[in-house]
Amino acid sequence: MASIFEERVRSRTQKSRAVYEEAKLVLPGGVAANTKAISPYPLYFRDARGAYVTDIDGNTYIDLVMGLGIHILGHAPAPVMAAVRERLSSGPLPGMATELEVELARKVRRHMACAEMVRFVNTGTEATLMAIRVARAYRKRDKVAKFEGNYDGQHDLVQVSTSTIAGPVDAPEPSLNHSGVAKSTLRDLVILPYNDPERATALIAAHADELAAVIMEPVAGFGMGCVPATREFIHAIREATAKRDIPLILDEVVTNFRLGLGGASEHYGIKPDLVTLGKILGGGFPIGGYAGRRDLMDRLVTPTGRPSEDQGRISQSGTFSGNAVSMAAGLATIKVLEEGDVYRQLDVMTERLCGGLKRLATDHGITLAITGVKSMFQVHFGLDHLTTIRERSGEDFARATEFSHGLLANGVFAVPRPWFMSAAHTQADVDKILDVADGVFKEMKHAKPAGVAGGSR
Ligand code: PMP
Repeated sequence: MASIFEERVRSRTQKSRAVYEEAKLVLPGGVAANTKAISPYPLYFRDARGAYVTDIDGNTYIDLVMGLGIHILGHAPAPVMAAVRERLSSGPLPGMATELEVELARKVRRHMACAEMVRFVNTGTEATLMAIRVARAYRKRDKVAKFEGNYDGQHDLVQVSTSTIAGPVDAPEPSLNHSGVAKSTLRDLVILPYNDPERATALIAAHADELAAVIMEPVAGFGMGCVPATREFIHAIREATAKRDIPLILDEVVTNFRLGLGGASEHYGIKPDLVTLGKILGGGFPIGGYAGRRDLMDRLVTPTGRPSEDQGRISQSGTFSGNAVSMAAGLATIKVLEEGDVYRQLDVMTERLCGGLKRLATDHGITLAITGVKSMFQVHFGLDHLTTIRERSGEDFARATEFSHGLLANGVFAVPRPWFMSAAHTQADVDKILDVADGVFKEMKHAKPAGVAGGSR
């Protein structure tokens, strides 16, 4: 059964529908990435400025997806676009070293205490792949512990237990809900429960001798629905790993420059051994990065030029790694973040939106939890709180899809995933979203549950 708003979305987006019908023939699902395959079908966009995106039917939306967390300054911010244009005018220089990568590494180092040395790659997936490789080279072991409900990219080792669960809560088992991941990777994995310091540290202690690394999201974003680690939990994991000399890889692909200039490590006051970077760091262009302790990065990543001396080191290259366009865009973004009062403004706007949504839900008798930290958050229907993925069994995903359709039908681009505030969102934008949500909740209250499929990926 379609949601009560689905027909309205469809009637406004006939051009997207037509493109989708053709796109399906050449692109599986009509898109290049599963995240773009939204319900009822992908919308195809032609323009993005500030807080707004315009689809090919000419509908303009206030955007809450914000490039899956990239656009902290809004879409196409003038200083970033100018830096990119300037770079392009002298050639994009892929595959060549430029001073821009040096400058961007210095910026990361200045703001993130744990990032003593940095390497840039092109995606967050590559970032976690390489950070794990560094840890394995250091520990001379293969096993990696990751958390249930954490999404750390799409390579085999971490594409397990991202949004599904298996086994008992005190000893979670790897959950493979996607095909094509080599079963042999499971031998190298220990799955830990998130936000459960006692059980997680007990498992780290039990597997300590075999572990190369523990990788963790400080805010469990795209797998679990934007659930922050508690302070007690993140500090317990830091302590349990430090005590046993197991590198802790903090996956900050989403949180770097989102929770503040110093990312989640600064926000929580912890110093991981390695940190992974991405999204905001590239100013809207492809990026990933990994950084950390000098003794690990310098000794294990630096090439010597002589293969015989490379033993014990990792290999990381990449045709586009540190590409000058992403470097220039990232630098321009960070400069704006350093100069302005962006983070305070983001907090105020997010507070206004989340507080307003919560009030409206209460007024309409709708059970709603809002999880998140600073300017990243997600709404969850049918729950009043959410701290671990296992609690999501009670979540009403059909309602989330219905709400998303209601927002899409009324000019707010928001799908059931983490939402992100940007510096371009004004008070008027937030009030407009609240006005729309009020109307949508009102209709949802009177409608029967929709029974449509949905939820985070
Ligand atoms: N780590 C985290 C925490 C992420 O959220 C993501 C992507 N959303 C990744 C890694 C992978 O990044 P990418 O999509 O750039 O490969």
